[in-house]
Amino acid sequence: MSEQDKNNVEKVGEGQVEDSKKQEDEYEKICFVCRRPETATGKMIDLPNGISICSDCMQKSFDAMMNGQVDYSQLMNIPGVQIFNMADMEQNVPKKQKIKKKKEGEERNPLIDIRNIPAPHKIKGKLDEYVVGQEYAKKAVSVAVYNHYKRVATDTMDEIEIEKSNMLMIGPTGSGKTYLVKTLAKLLDVPLAITDATSLTEAGYIGDDIESVVSKLLAAAGNDVEKAEQGIIFIDEIDKIAKKKNTNQRDVSGESVQQGMLKLLEGSDVEVPVGANSKNAMVPLTTVNTKNILFICGGAFPDLDKIIKERLTKQSSIGFGAELKDRYNRDKTVLEKVTTEDLRNFGMIPEFLGRLPIVFTLQGLSEEMMVKILTEPKNAILKQYQKLLALDEVKLSFDEGALAKIAEKAVEKDTGARALRAIIEEFMLDIMFEIPKDDNIGQVTITREYIEGTGGPLIMLRGQETPRIEGK
Ligand code: ADP
Repeated sequence: MSEQDKNNVEKVGEGQVEDSKKQEDEYEKICFVCRRPETATGKMIDLPNGISICSDCMQKSFDAMMNGQVDYSQLMNIPGVQIFNMADMEQNVPKKQKIKKKKEGEERNPLIDIRNIPAPHKIKGKLDEYVVGQEYAKKAVSVAVYNHYKRVATDTMDEIEIEKSNMLMIGPTGSGKTYLVKTLAKLLDVPLAITDATSLTEAGYIGDDIESVVSKLLAAAGNDVEKAEQGIIFIDEIDKIAKKKNTNQRDVSGESVQQGMLKLLEGSDVEVPVGANSKNAMVPLTTVNTKNILFICGGAFPDLDKIIKERLTKQSSIGFGAELKDRYNRDKTVLEKVTTEDLRNFGMIPEFLGRLPIVFTLQGLSEEMMVKILTEPKNAILKQYQKLLALDEVKLSFDEGALAKIAEKAVEKDTGARALRAIIEEFMLDIMFEIPKDDNIGQVTITREYIEGTGGPLIMLRGQETPRIEGK
Protein backbone atom coordinates (compact mmCIF):
# COMPACT_ATOMS: atom_id res chain seq x y z
CA MET A 1 0.00 0.00 0.00
CA SER A 2 1.47 3.36 -0.89
CA GLU A 3 2.03 6.02 1.74
CA GLN A 4 -0.82 8.04 0.35
CA ASP A 5 -3.25 5.13 0.48
CA LYS A 6 -2.33 4.53 4.09
CA ASN A 7 -2.98 8.16 4.91
CA ASN A 8 -6.30 7.97 3.18
CA VAL A 9 -7.28 4.91 5.18
CA GLU A 10 -6.35 6.66 8.38
CA LYS A 11 -8.16 9.79 7.39
CA VAL A 12 -11.27 7.90 6.44
CA GLY A 13 -11.01 6.01 9.73
CA GLU A 14 -10.72 9.18 11.78
CA GLY A 15 -13.40 10.91 9.83
CA GLN A 16 -15.61 7.98 10.36
CA VAL A 17 -15.23 8.13 14.14
CA GLU A 18 -16.21 11.77 14.27
CA ASP A 19 -19.03 11.28 11.87
CA SER A 20 -20.40 8.35 13.74
CA LYS A 21 -20.39 10.37 16.93
CA LYS A 22 -22.24 13.26 15.35
CA GLN A 23 -24.68 11.63 13.09
CA GLU A 24 -25.01 8.00 14.04
CA ASP A 25 -28.14 7.57 12.01
CA GLU A 26 -27.10 9.08 8.71
CA TYR A 27 -23.83 7.21 8.31
CA GLU A 28 -23.18 3.54 8.48
CA LYS A 29 -20.03 1.88 9.66
CA ILE A 30 -17.47 0.63 7.20
CA CYS A 31 -15.18 -2.30 7.89
CA PHE A 32 -11.67 -1.00 8.51
CA VAL A 33 -10.18 -3.95 6.62
CA CYS A 34 -12.43 -4.75 3.71
CA ARG A 35 -14.13 -1.35 3.35
CA ARG A 36 -17.58 -2.89 2.97
CA PRO A 37 -20.49 -1.07 4.67
CA GLU A 38 -22.43 -2.61 7.53
CA THR A 39 -25.43 -3.26 5.28
CA ALA A 40 -23.31 -5.68 3.33
CA THR A 41 -21.30 -7.30 6.09
CA GLY A 42 -23.79 -7.66 8.92
CA LYS A 43 -23.15 -6.36 12.40
CA MET A 44 -19.74 -4.84 12.95
CA ILE A 45 -17.46 -5.29 15.94
CA ASP A 46 -16.40 -1.94 17.41
CA LEU A 47 -12.81 -1.54 18.43
CA PRO A 48 -11.10 1.35 20.28
CA ASN A 49 -10.46 4.58 18.34
CA GLY A 50 -13.73 4.24 16.51
CA ILE A 51 -12.54 1.42 14.30
CA SER A 52 -15.09 -1.14 13.16
CA ILE A 53 -14.35 -4.52 11.69
CA CYS A 54 -16.80 -6.91 10.11
CA SER A 55 -17.10 -10.39 11.51
CA ASP A 56 -15.65 -11.97 8.36
CA CYS A 57 -12.44 -10.02 8.62
CA MET A 58 -12.25 -10.58 12.37
CA GLN A 59 -12.62 -14.32 11.81
CA LYS A 60 -9.94 -14.33 9.14
CA SER A 61 -7.57 -12.51 11.48
CA PHE A 62 -8.22 -15.03 14.22
CA ASP A 63 -7.73 -17.92 11.83
CA ALA A 64 -4.46 -16.50 10.70
CA MET A 65 -3.27 -16.08 14.28
CA MET A 66 -4.36 -19.57 15.28
CA ASN A 67 -2.43 -21.11 12.41
CA GLY A 68 0.64 -19.48 13.78
CA GLN A 69 1.45 -17.73 10.56
CA VAL A 70 -0.37 -15.12 8.66
CA ASP A 71 -1.58 -16.59 5.41
CA TYR A 72 -1.01 -13.80 2.96
CA SER A 73 -2.86 -15.52 0.19
CA GLN A 74 -5.98 -15.41 2.38
CA LEU A 75 -5.41 -11.80 3.25
CA MET A 76 -5.23 -11.01 -0.43
CA ASN A 77 -8.71 -12.41 -0.82
CA ILE A 78 -10.21 -9.84 1.48
CA PRO A 79 -11.62 -7.11 -0.73
CA GLY A 80 -9.86 -3.82 -0.41
CA VAL A 81 -6.75 -5.22 1.22
CA GLN A 82 -3.50 -4.72 -0.60
CA ILE A 83 -0.29 -6.27 0.37
CA PHE A 84 2.91 -4.40 -0.20
CA ASN A 85 4.68 -6.38 -2.84
CA MET A 86 8.45 -6.18 -2.96
CA ALA A 87 8.48 -7.48 -6.53
CA ASP A 88 6.57 -4.40 -7.68
CA MET A 89 9.14 -2.19 -6.06
CA GLU A 90 11.93 -3.94 -7.89
CA GLN A 91 10.33 -3.28 -11.22
CA ASN A 92 10.61 0.45 -10.73
CA VAL A 93 14.17 0.36 -9.60
CA PRO A 94 16.85 -0.10 -12.22
CA LYS A 95 18.51 -3.47 -11.85
CA LYS A 96 22.18 -2.78 -12.04
CA GLN A 97 23.09 -0.18 -9.51
CA LYS A 98 26.44 -1.41 -8.40
CA ILE A 99 29.63 0.04 -9.66
CA LYS A 100 32.83 -1.87 -10.03
CA LYS A 101 34.89 -1.78 -6.88
CA LYS A 102 38.38 -0.39 -6.92
CA LYS A 103 40.79 -2.68 -5.17
CA GLU A 104 42.87 -1.27 -2.35
CA GLY A 105 46.20 0.06 -3.48
CA GLU A 106 45.58 -0.99 -7.08
CA GLU A 107 47.56 0.98 -9.63
CA ARG A 108 45.49 3.03 -12.03
CA ASN A 109 45.93 0.98 -15.13
CA PRO A 110 45.38 2.79 -18.39
CA LEU A 111 43.20 0.72 -20.68
CA ILE A 112 45.56 1.52 -23.44
CA ASP A 113 49.25 0.97 -23.09
CA ILE A 114 51.36 3.57 -24.90
CA ARG A 115 53.42 0.86 -26.56
CA ASN A 116 50.31 -0.89 -27.76
CA ILE A 117 48.44 1.99 -29.31
CA PRO A 118 48.18 1.08 -32.98
CA ALA A 119 49.87 3.61 -35.24
CA PRO A 120 47.57 5.82 -37.33
CA HIS A 121 48.20 3.89 -40.53
CA LYS A 122 47.25 0.67 -38.79
CA ILE A 123 44.06 2.19 -37.42
CA LYS A 124 43.21 3.45 -40.88
CA GLY A 125 44.03 0.08 -42.40
CA LYS A 126 41.50 -1.55 -40.08
CA LEU A 127 38.91 1.12 -40.83
CA ASP A 128 39.45 0.48 -44.55
CA GLU A 129 38.20 -3.05 -44.08
CA TYR A 130 34.80 -1.76 -43.07
CA VAL A 131 34.32 1.82 -44.22
CA VAL A 132 34.27 2.54 -47.94
CA GLY A 133 35.73 5.80 -49.26
CA GLN A 134 35.87 8.77 -46.86
CA GLU A 135 39.65 8.66 -47.08
CA TYR A 136 40.25 12.04 -45.49
CA ALA A 137 37.88 11.36 -42.61
CA LYS A 138 39.48 8.00 -41.88
CA LYS A 139 42.92 9.56 -41.88
CA ALA A 140 41.88 12.44 -39.64
CA VAL A 141 40.16 10.13 -37.18
CA SER A 142 43.11 7.75 -37.04
CA VAL A 143 45.58 10.49 -36.23
CA ALA A 144 43.27 12.17 -33.71
CA VAL A 145 42.55 8.93 -31.90
CA TYR A 146 46.21 7.99 -31.84
CA ASN A 147 47.11 11.33 -30.30
CA HIS A 148 44.25 11.17 -27.88
CA TYR A 149 45.24 7.83 -26.45
CA LYS A 150 48.89 8.83 -26.33
CA ARG A 151 47.77 11.71 -24.20
CA VAL A 152 45.73 9.41 -21.99
CA ALA A 153 48.49 6.85 -21.65
CA THR A 154 51.18 9.36 -20.71
CA ASP A 155 48.82 11.50 -18.66
CA THR A 156 51.16 14.42 -19.15
CA MET A 157 50.82 17.10 -16.60
CA ASP A 158 54.04 18.92 -17.37
CA GLU A 159 54.21 22.29 -19.06
CA ILE A 160 53.45 20.90 -22.50
CA GLU A 161 50.02 19.52 -22.01
CA ILE A 162 48.66 17.80 -25.07
CA GLU A 163 45.36 19.25 -26.12
CA LYS A 164 42.29 17.07 -26.22
CA SER A 165 41.42 15.79 -29.69
CA ASN A 166 37.64 16.12 -29.63
CA MET A 167 36.25 16.03 -33.15
CA LEU A 168 33.48 17.49 -35.23
CA MET A 169 32.35 15.44 -38.23
CA ILE A 170 30.32 17.07 -40.94
CA GLY A 171 28.64 14.92 -43.55
CA PRO A 172 25.28 14.14 -45.09
CA THR A 173 23.00 11.59 -43.51
CA GLY A 174 23.91 7.96 -44.16
CA SER A 175 27.47 8.77 -45.21
CA GLY A 176 28.98 6.66 -42.44
CA LYS A 177 29.58 9.01 -39.51
CA THR A 178 28.10 6.73 -36.87
CA TYR A 179 29.49 3.68 -38.59
CA LEU A 180 32.99 5.13 -38.56
CA VAL A 181 32.85 5.80 -34.82
CA LYS A 182 31.33 2.42 -34.05
CA THR A 183 34.02 0.63 -36.04
CA LEU A 184 36.69 2.69 -34.32
CA ALA A 185 35.44 1.90 -30.81
CA LYS A 186 35.22 -1.77 -31.67
CA LEU A 187 38.73 -2.05 -32.97
CA LEU A 188 40.20 -0.08 -30.10
CA ASP A 189 38.06 -2.06 -27.68
CA VAL A 190 36.91 0.97 -25.72
CA PRO A 191 33.37 1.66 -24.50
CA LEU A 192 31.22 3.83 -26.73
CA ALA A 193 28.03 5.77 -26.06
CA ILE A 194 25.96 7.20 -28.89
CA THR A 195 23.49 9.98 -28.22
CA ASP A 196 21.34 12.26 -30.23
CA ALA A 197 21.80 15.94 -29.48
CA THR A 198 18.12 16.56 -30.19
CA SER A 199 17.12 14.71 -27.03
CA LEU A 200 19.34 16.89 -24.85
CA THR A 201 18.03 19.92 -23.01
CA GLU A 202 19.34 22.23 -20.37
CA ALA A 203 19.07 20.63 -16.92
CA GLY A 204 15.63 20.98 -15.44
CA TYR A 205 13.71 20.96 -18.71
CA ILE A 206 11.87 18.08 -20.36
CA GLY A 207 14.39 15.88 -22.12
CA ASP A 208 17.68 14.35 -21.09
CA ASP A 209 20.20 16.28 -19.05
CA ILE A 210 23.46 16.83 -20.84
CA GLU A 211 25.18 14.67 -18.26
CA SER A 212 23.05 11.69 -19.25
CA VAL A 213 25.53 11.05 -22.06
CA VAL A 214 28.15 10.22 -19.47
CA SER A 215 25.85 7.85 -17.66
CA LYS A 216 25.20 6.07 -20.95
CA LEU A 217 28.92 5.62 -21.36
CA LEU A 218 29.18 4.28 -17.83
CA ALA A 219 26.53 1.71 -18.68
CA ALA A 220 28.41 0.79 -21.87
CA ALA A 221 31.52 0.26 -19.77
CA GLY A 222 29.65 -2.17 -17.53
CA ASN A 223 29.56 0.39 -14.70
CA ASP A 224 33.34 0.39 -14.52
CA VAL A 225 34.20 4.03 -13.88
CA GLU A 226 37.84 3.74 -14.95
CA LYS A 227 36.92 2.12 -18.22
CA ALA A 228 34.24 4.73 -18.90
CA GLU A 229 36.73 7.50 -18.25
CA GLN A 230 38.67 6.38 -21.32
CA GLY A 231 35.75 5.76 -23.61
CA ILE A 232 34.26 7.57 -26.59
CA ILE A 233 31.05 9.59 -26.63
CA PHE A 234 29.47 10.21 -30.01
CA ILE A 235 26.89 12.97 -30.15
CA ASP A 236 24.94 12.84 -33.38
CA GLU A 237 22.81 15.58 -34.96
CA ILE A 238 24.90 18.24 -33.28
CA ASP A 239 23.69 20.76 -35.88
CA LYS A 240 20.26 20.61 -34.24
CA ILE A 241 21.56 22.45 -31.19
CA ALA A 242 22.66 25.44 -33.23
CA LYS A 243 21.71 28.79 -31.78
CA LYS A 244 18.20 29.66 -32.84
CA LYS A 245 18.04 32.78 -34.91
CA ASN A 246 15.67 35.67 -34.13
CA THR A 247 14.04 34.23 -31.08
CA ASN A 248 13.01 35.93 -27.89
CA GLN A 249 12.26 32.73 -26.07
CA ARG A 250 14.69 30.98 -23.80
CA ASP A 251 16.64 28.62 -25.99
CA VAL A 252 16.71 25.52 -23.76
CA SER A 253 17.58 23.04 -26.47
CA GLY A 254 20.02 25.07 -28.52
CA GLU A 255 22.56 27.55 -27.30
CA SER A 256 22.18 26.61 -23.65
CA VAL A 257 22.89 22.96 -24.44
CA GLN A 258 26.07 24.04 -26.17
CA GLN A 259 26.94 26.10 -23.08
CA GLY A 260 26.15 23.15 -20.86
CA MET A 261 28.43 20.88 -22.82
CA LEU A 262 31.50 23.07 -22.55
CA LYS A 263 32.70 21.69 -19.24
CA LEU A 264 32.02 18.14 -20.29
CA LEU A 265 34.04 18.49 -23.48
CA GLU A 266 36.93 20.05 -21.69
CA GLY A 267 37.05 17.66 -18.78
CA SER A 268 35.32 17.88 -15.44
CA ASP A 269 33.96 15.73 -12.66
CA VAL A 270 30.40 14.79 -13.37
CA GLU A 271 28.02 13.18 -10.92
CA VAL A 272 26.09 10.56 -12.79
CA PRO A 273 23.35 8.18 -11.73
CA VAL A 274 24.38 4.52 -11.81
CA GLY A 275 22.03 2.28 -13.75
CA ALA A 276 19.60 4.98 -14.83
CA ASN A 277 19.39 7.93 -17.15
CA SER A 278 18.15 10.50 -14.69
CA LYS A 279 18.98 11.43 -11.19
CA ASN A 280 16.36 10.61 -8.60
CA ALA A 281 16.22 9.53 -5.00
CA MET A 282 16.24 5.84 -5.91
CA VAL A 283 19.54 5.69 -7.74
CA PRO A 284 23.02 6.02 -6.34
CA LEU A 285 25.41 8.54 -7.88
CA THR A 286 29.03 8.18 -8.80
CA THR A 287 31.63 10.59 -10.11
CA VAL A 288 33.09 10.27 -13.59
CA ASN A 289 35.87 12.52 -14.85
CA THR A 290 35.52 13.41 -18.52
CA LYS A 291 39.11 14.62 -19.01
CA ASN A 292 40.12 11.54 -20.95
CA ILE A 293 36.84 10.83 -22.66
CA LEU A 294 37.00 11.44 -26.39
CA PHE A 295 34.03 13.39 -27.67
CA ILE A 296 33.08 13.09 -31.31
CA CYS A 297 30.23 15.24 -32.56
CA GLY A 298 28.56 14.65 -35.90
CA GLY A 299 25.95 16.37 -37.96
CA ALA A 300 24.64 16.92 -41.47
CA PHE A 301 24.63 20.73 -41.16
CA PRO A 302 22.12 21.36 -43.92
CA ASP A 303 22.67 24.59 -45.84
CA LEU A 304 26.16 24.99 -44.45
CA ASP A 305 27.34 24.85 -48.07
CA LYS A 306 25.36 28.02 -48.81
CA ILE A 307 27.13 29.82 -45.96
CA ILE A 308 30.52 28.66 -47.26
CA LYS A 309 29.71 29.66 -50.85
CA GLU A 310 28.61 33.09 -49.71
CA ARG A 311 31.84 33.63 -47.82
CA LEU A 312 33.97 32.40 -50.70
CA THR A 313 32.18 34.63 -53.17
CA LYS A 314 32.49 37.64 -50.89
CA GLN A 315 36.17 37.04 -50.28
CA SER A 316 37.06 36.92 -53.94
CA SER A 317 37.78 40.03 -55.88
CA ILE A 318 34.85 42.26 -56.62
CA GLY A 319 33.35 42.15 -60.08
CA PHE A 320 33.57 38.45 -60.78
CA GLY A 321 31.05 37.55 -58.08
CA ALA A 322 28.39 36.02 -60.29
CA GLU A 323 30.84 33.92 -62.25
CA LEU A 324 32.48 32.62 -59.09
CA LYS A 325 29.18 31.84 -57.47
CA ASP A 326 28.36 29.70 -60.44
CA ARG A 327 31.64 27.86 -60.10
CA TYR A 328 31.14 27.18 -56.40
CA ASN A 329 27.60 26.00 -57.06
CA ARG A 330 28.97 23.25 -59.22
CA ASP A 331 31.75 22.41 -56.79
CA LYS A 332 30.89 19.23 -54.89
CA THR A 333 33.75 19.60 -52.47
CA VAL A 334 32.70 23.00 -51.20
CA LEU A 335 31.87 21.55 -47.76
CA GLU A 336 35.53 20.65 -47.30
CA LYS A 337 36.37 24.35 -47.30
CA VAL A 338 34.50 24.85 -44.03
CA THR A 339 36.02 27.15 -41.41
CA THR A 340 35.14 27.94 -37.81
CA GLU A 341 33.68 31.19 -39.02
CA ASP A 342 31.16 29.34 -41.21
CA LEU A 343 30.17 27.11 -38.33
CA ARG A 344 29.74 30.16 -36.15
CA ASN A 345 27.46 31.66 -38.77
CA PHE A 346 25.53 28.43 -38.73
CA GLY A 347 24.82 28.94 -35.04
CA MET A 348 27.51 27.11 -33.13
CA ILE A 349 28.99 29.21 -30.35
CA PRO A 350 32.73 29.97 -30.44
CA GLU A 351 33.45 28.40 -27.05
CA PHE A 352 31.87 25.19 -28.21
CA LEU A 353 33.82 25.11 -31.45
CA GLY A 354 36.99 25.90 -29.50
CA ARG A 355 36.61 22.60 -27.69
CA LEU A 356 36.31 20.61 -30.89
CA PRO A 357 39.69 21.35 -32.46
CA ILE A 358 39.49 18.70 -35.17
CA VAL A 359 36.94 19.39 -37.88
CA PHE A 360 36.53 17.28 -41.01
CA THR A 361 33.93 16.39 -43.57
CA LEU A 362 32.54 13.22 -45.10
CA GLN A 363 31.36 13.12 -48.69
CA GLY A 364 27.92 12.26 -49.89
CA LEU A 365 27.97 8.75 -51.34
CA SER A 366 28.20 8.34 -55.11
CA GLU A 367 26.76 5.39 -57.03
CA GLU A 368 30.21 3.94 -57.34
CA MET A 369 30.72 4.07 -53.58
CA MET A 370 27.32 2.49 -53.03
CA VAL A 371 28.30 -0.50 -55.16
CA LYS A 372 31.48 -0.86 -53.11
CA ILE A 373 29.50 -0.65 -49.86
CA LEU A 374 27.28 -3.44 -51.12
CA THR A 375 30.12 -5.77 -51.93
CA GLU A 376 33.44 -4.85 -50.36
CA PRO A 377 33.37 -4.38 -46.57
CA LYS A 378 34.05 -7.41 -44.40
CA ASN A 379 30.41 -7.58 -43.37
CA ALA A 380 28.89 -6.21 -46.60
CA ILE A 381 25.15 -6.73 -46.93
CA LEU A 382 25.48 -8.93 -50.00
CA LYS A 383 28.08 -11.10 -48.31
CA GLN A 384 25.61 -11.64 -45.51
CA TYR A 385 22.93 -12.86 -47.89
CA GLN A 386 25.42 -15.02 -49.75
CA LYS A 387 26.42 -16.65 -46.51
CA LEU A 388 22.81 -17.30 -45.55
CA LEU A 389 22.07 -19.01 -48.86
CA ALA A 390 25.37 -20.87 -48.84
CA LEU A 391 24.09 -22.65 -45.75
CA ASP A 392 21.39 -24.07 -48.03
CA GLU A 393 24.14 -24.84 -50.55
CA VAL A 394 22.86 -22.25 -52.98
CA LYS A 395 25.24 -19.82 -54.65
CA LEU A 396 23.95 -16.27 -54.81
CA SER A 397 25.44 -13.73 -57.19
CA PHE A 398 24.55 -10.30 -58.52
CA ASP A 399 25.36 -9.19 -62.04
CA GLU A 400 26.92 -5.78 -62.58
CA GLY A 401 23.74 -4.26 -63.94
CA ALA A 402 21.86 -5.27 -60.82
CA LEU A 403 24.43 -3.66 -58.55
CA ALA A 404 24.39 -0.46 -60.59
CA LYS A 405 20.60 -0.30 -60.48
CA ILE A 406 20.49 -0.83 -56.70
CA ALA A 407 23.07 1.93 -56.25
CA GLU A 408 21.13 4.23 -58.55
CA LYS A 409 17.93 3.66 -56.60
CA ALA A 410 19.74 4.28 -53.30
CA VAL A 411 21.22 7.58 -54.48
CA GLU A 412 17.76 8.73 -55.54
CA LYS A 413 16.43 8.18 -52.03
CA ASP A 414 18.95 10.64 -50.63
CA THR A 415 19.39 8.88 -47.30
CA GLY A 416 22.88 7.63 -48.02
CA ALA A 417 23.82 4.00 -47.56
CA ARG A 418 20.89 3.52 -45.25
CA ALA A 419 18.66 3.19 -48.32
CA LEU A 420 20.59 0.15 -49.55
CA ARG A 421 19.34 -2.28 -46.98
CA ALA A 422 15.71 -1.29 -47.54
CA ILE A 423 16.01 -1.73 -51.31
CA ILE A 424 17.72 -5.09 -51.03
CA GLU A 425 15.39 -6.45 -48.42
CA GLU A 426 12.45 -5.63 -50.65
CA PHE A 427 13.44 -8.06 -53.40
CA MET A 428 15.49 -10.52 -51.35
CA LEU A 429 12.43 -11.41 -49.31
CA ASP A 430 10.99 -13.32 -52.26
CA ILE A 431 14.29 -15.00 -53.01
CA MET A 432 14.81 -16.07 -49.42
CA PHE A 433 11.25 -17.39 -49.33
CA GLU A 434 11.14 -19.23 -52.64
CA ILE A 435 14.61 -20.74 -53.01
CA PRO A 436 14.60 -23.13 -50.04
CA LYS A 437 11.33 -24.59 -51.41
CA ASP A 438 13.16 -26.36 -54.21
CA ASP A 439 16.16 -28.50 -53.33
CA ASN A 440 17.26 -28.66 -56.95
CA ILE A 441 18.21 -25.01 -57.19
CA GLY A 442 21.96 -24.60 -57.11
CA GLN A 443 22.51 -21.01 -58.14
CA VAL A 444 20.61 -17.72 -58.26
CA THR A 445 21.78 -14.66 -60.13
CA ILE A 446 20.06 -11.35 -59.47
CA THR A 447 19.76 -9.40 -62.69
CA ARG A 448 19.15 -5.76 -63.52
CA GLU A 449 15.75 -6.68 -64.96
CA TYR A 450 14.74 -8.26 -61.68
CA ILE A 451 15.58 -5.08 -59.75
CA GLU A 452 13.74 -3.00 -62.33
CA GLY A 453 10.73 -5.27 -62.08
CA THR A 454 10.81 -6.23 -65.75
CA GLY A 455 12.21 -9.74 -65.39
CA GLY A 456 13.13 -12.47 -62.96
CA PRO A 457 16.32 -13.74 -61.41
CA LEU A 458 18.41 -16.27 -63.27
CA ILE A 459 18.01 -19.65 -61.66
CA MET A 460 20.18 -22.65 -62.34
CA LEU A 461 19.56 -26.14 -61.13
CA ARG A 462 22.17 -28.31 -59.53
CA GLY A 463 24.42 -30.10 -62.00
CA GLN A 464 23.32 -27.69 -64.69
CA GLU A 465 26.05 -25.17 -64.02
CA THR A 466 28.08 -24.28 -67.07
CA PRO A 467 31.89 -24.35 -66.65
CA ARG A 468 31.93 -20.53 -66.83
CA ILE A 469 30.28 -20.32 -63.46
CA GLU A 470 32.39 -21.43 -60.55
CA GLY A 471 31.10 -24.39 -58.65
CA LYS A 472 30.08 -24.18 -55.04
P1 ADP B 1 25.27 8.69 -40.56
O1 ADP B 1 26.31 9.40 -41.36
O2 ADP B 1 23.92 9.27 -40.79
O3 ADP B 1 25.64 8.52 -39.14
P2 ADP B 1 25.53 5.83 -40.61
O4 ADP B 1 26.93 5.76 -40.20
O5 ADP B 1 24.52 5.51 -39.57
O6 ADP B 1 25.20 7.24 -41.23
O7 ADP B 1 25.30 4.89 -41.89
C1 ADP B 1 24.22 4.03 -42.03
C2 ADP B 1 24.67 2.65 -42.51
O8 ADP B 1 25.16 2.76 -43.82
C3 ADP B 1 25.81 2.09 -41.69
O9 ADP B 1 25.32 1.25 -40.69
C4 ADP B 1 26.65 1.34 -42.67
O10 ADP B 1 26.23 0.00 -42.76
C5 ADP B 1 26.34 1.99 -43.99
N1 ADP B 1 27.42 2.89 -44.45
C6 ADP B 1 27.33 4.24 -44.54
N2 ADP B 1 28.45 4.75 -45.05
C7 ADP B 1 29.29 3.74 -45.26
C8 ADP B 1 30.63 3.65 -45.76
N3 ADP B 1 31.31 4.72 -46.15
N4 ADP B 1 31.17 2.42 -45.85
C9 ADP B 1 30.48 1.31 -45.48
N5 ADP B 1 29.23 1.34 -45.01
C10 ADP B 1 28.63 2.53 -44.90
